[in-house]
Amino acid sequence: MAGSIFDKIIAREIPADIVHEDEDVLAFRDINPQAPVHVLFIPKRPIATLNDLRAGDEALVGRLVMAAAAWAKAQGFAENGYRLVMNCNRDGGQTVFHIHLHLLAGRAMHWPPG
Ligand code: 5GP
Repeated sequence: MAGSIFDKIIAREIPADIVHEDEDVLAFRDINPQAPVHVLFIPKRPIATLNDLRAGDEALVGRLVMAAAAWAKAQGFAENGYRLVMNCNRDGGQTVFHIHLHLLAGRAMHWPPG
């Protein structure tokens, strides 16, 4: 499958407001924020959808969640709270086919989501 726009962000071919980077994970602010704080945590290794996860990817997915939780805590969102979301394919609302964990913070979230 062809690469996504996130490959270009990883390669620094297009700009992004990067807030976290480690060996496996990159995090940057969403270009179309849905909350006062909206950050995407992505694996550097391209995986198109959650359907493409394989045995052995447990640690990588765990690193996304751990990186997001640590960043939220460091930014002071732990006490009030925040939301983490992963969308899968059409009905999940996925538009970029490189898995990503949305971190939304800075306002009260609603449930159920639309
Ligand atoms: P999805 O709908 O696939 O779960 O979320 C994709 C997200 O990527 C959307 O919230 C969208 O605003 C964001 N996005 C799409 N293209 C870009 C881009 O070029 N830069 C950044 N920073 N975010 C993007």
